[in-house]
Amino acid sequence: MRKAIVVGTGAGGATVARELQGNFDVTMLEAGSEFRPFSLSLPMIGQLKRTGLLRDERAIRFLFPAMNVGRTRERMVLVNGIGVGGTTTIATGNGIRADGALKNIGINLDPEFAALESEVPVSTAHQRWWRPATIRLFEICQEMNLAPLPMPKMGDMQRCINCGHCVLGCPRGAKWDSRRFVDSARAAGATLVTGSPVERVVFSGSRALGVIVRKGLRKRFIRADLVVLAAGGFGTPVILENSGVECEKRLFVDPVLCVAANWRGAMQNKDISMPFVVQRDGFIISPYFDYLSFFFNRDWRFPADDTLGLMVKIADDPSGSVSGTRVEKVLTEQDTDRLNTGVDVCRDIFERLGVRRQDLILGTKNAGHPGGMLPLTRREAETFHNQSLPENLYIADATLFPTSPGNPPILTIMAMAKRVGSICSRN
Ligand SMILES: Cc1cc2nc3c(=O)[nH]c(=O)nc-3n(C[C@H](O)[C@H](O)[C@H](O)COP(=O)(O)OP(=O)(O)OC[C@H]3O[C@@H](n4cnc5c(N)ncnc54)[C@H](O)[C@@H]3O)c2cc1C
Repeated sequence: MRKAIVVGTGAGGATVARELQGNFDVTMLEAGSEFRPFSLSLPMIGQLKRTGLLRDERAIRFLFPAMNVGRTRERMVLVNGIGVGGTTTIATGNGIRADGALKNIGINLDPEFAALESEVPVSTAHQRWWRPATIRLFEICQEMNLAPLPMPKMGDMQRCINCGHCVLGCPRGAKWDSRRFVDSARAAGATLVTGSPVERVVFSGSRALGVIVRKGLRKRFIRADLVVLAAGGFGTPVILENSGVECEKRLFVDPVLCVAANWRGAMQNKDISMPFVVQRDGFIISPYFDYLSFFFNRDWRFPADDTLGLMVKIADDPSGSVSGTRVEKVLTEQDTDRLNTGVDVCRDIFERLGVRRQDLILGTKNAGHPGGMLPLTRREAETFHNQSLPENLYIADATLFPTSPGNPPILTIMAMAKRVGSICSRN
């Protein structure tokens, strides 16, 4: 049987591996290791913070190896997941369709979304467990005509214990993450190799011959008939760069800024993350306990149980790049305007709740939805294949997005990856 290599096991990689297995003999190469949820309690983190040891967000990897954190020159914190399941393991489980930009270039993923509906349970059943502070925020958003909607969540809500640890790794396995697709690809015969960062793709003329993988100090060549890169919006461009393929400086990251209040008994840290969403032009607002700010930001000084936060997440301009270990991303004027507008709406919401504006605190700017550096255009709407790539090298992650969705992208990445899988299986 023909051999395929899939690089990465996140939203895109796990999905495409599962699609390809059977038509190809698939090997999934994963840079990280098996996922382990975060195990320290918040009071322990509070104690650590008081010792002054938690100053730099990048130190999170010592406490939680699956979470990889970097920083831009403007000190925006960049977050992604490393290990089996990629960033889906540290996601909040939001499952919404965010394919507007793909539709605009003539890509219709209806069949893939329909198939995913039967494979990934998505529901808003968590609404019945919302805590009073969340319910009140929802009501206020309704009163302000912001049209809040319960967030559809991927997973088995019956098993959710509302512990609020979604982004630290669901301790009950209630949240859906892409390890389920990794497992089903393996059950069908695929191989998973962890601790295997792919450095580059080796080409000969118009074909990819395989990949170079680093194992400690050693490098190994693995031959394949098909290579699919799904190392994520930060990882895939670096592999392409190392392979001599130039990407476009169109990186988006969906920047996030949280606004929070000291609200006695909020217990948001023990409520499902992002329980509802307000969609505005260019940004979304959602209740969120901001762990990174709680761990590392000195302004974030309220006890965990009494911290109530709202997240603003914007669709940013495609204007950034990744090269080696460096990410260049400077927020544009429009990005800053969007963040400020979102923060103002949050201030209005908190004011109605009874919090004075001057008592609100801001979190650390962060971002975790990277992509866009080899975007699909109308020309590739049928093939999903960029002309600058060898004929048997494909991409199946957020690198393909034409612009930032400004919204949770997992389901859309999976729908794209399914399409890539079926195109490769036909060829
Ligand atoms: C805190 C947080 C919460 C989020 N919550 C949500 C949410 O609720 N819903 C939603 O839709 N989106 C959410 N997102 C975003 C979403 O998780 C990611 O956008 C999505 O998982 C990206 O999918 P991907 O396949 O492009 O990359 P990833 O899922 O990041 O997978 C990339 C994989 O490639 C591996 N890899 C990287 N480099 C290499 C290499 N050189 N060789 C081999 N393997 C490599 C990585 O280890 C990883 O397994 C969240 C993001 C963050 C940071």
